[in-house]
Amino acid sequence: TNYQKARYLASAPNVRNAPQDVGFEVAFAGRSNAGKSSAINAITQQKSLARVSKTPGRTRMLNFFRLDDQRRLVDLPGYGYAEVPEAIQKNWREALERYFSERRSLRGVFLVMDIRHPLTSFDRLMIEWCRHWDLPLHIALTKADKLGRSAALQALRTVEAELKTIEGLEISLQIFSALKRVGLEEAWAVLDRWLGL
Ligand code: GDP
Repeated sequence: TNYQKARYLASAPNVRNAPQDVGFEVAFAGRSNAGKSSAINAITQQKSLARVSKTPGRTRMLNFFRLDDQRRLVDLPGYGYAEVPEAIQKNWREALERYFSERRSLRGVFLVMDIRHPLTSFDRLMIEWCRHWDLPLHIALTKADKLGRSAALQALRTVEAELKTIEGLEISLQIFSALKRVGLEEAWAVLDRWLGL
């Protein structure tokens, strides 16, 4: 696929220092430990592309991966633990809010949730921002291999039922497993659509 071509491009603490805002971009969001890096690696069929986002000094950055001159994937900083100091949370929030509101090439948000712990307060904030800035949202419920097939489908339906009640939100959902490579075709189809491929 096209996604195998993904290469690290740049890291930026905020949208002002980001690569040129041209073409198409899809942002990956997820609470720490949700499985976002593993999802990015599975989608790009690379062992450690998203490792760059975990190197010291880059965990709070927007990390950009290039597909071609006009297309990028962006790994957004995740957070989710009480140990994150309040001042950092505030910076994180402001940087992300500016990215969501100002980034013209941003075509959609790919939100990764642990299927066993969906809709955390982090996830709800991302969902609210997508609604507010009119950004299409795709949710991948990952680590589905940790549940049986019917429990995974049940989790999908529960999340879907709750989100359907939110007006003005363009949303799609899927089951995913980086470990078992479940849901790659569905994920690629969404990215293709958003990236104009
Ligand atoms: P991130 O902090 O959101 O980037 O999460 P990681 O991708 O680093 O994953 C967090 C933990 O969950 C790691 O121990 C991964 O091995 C594990 N993990 C991630 N994806 C899957 C999956 O699809 N299945 C299972 N069983 N474990 C996963």
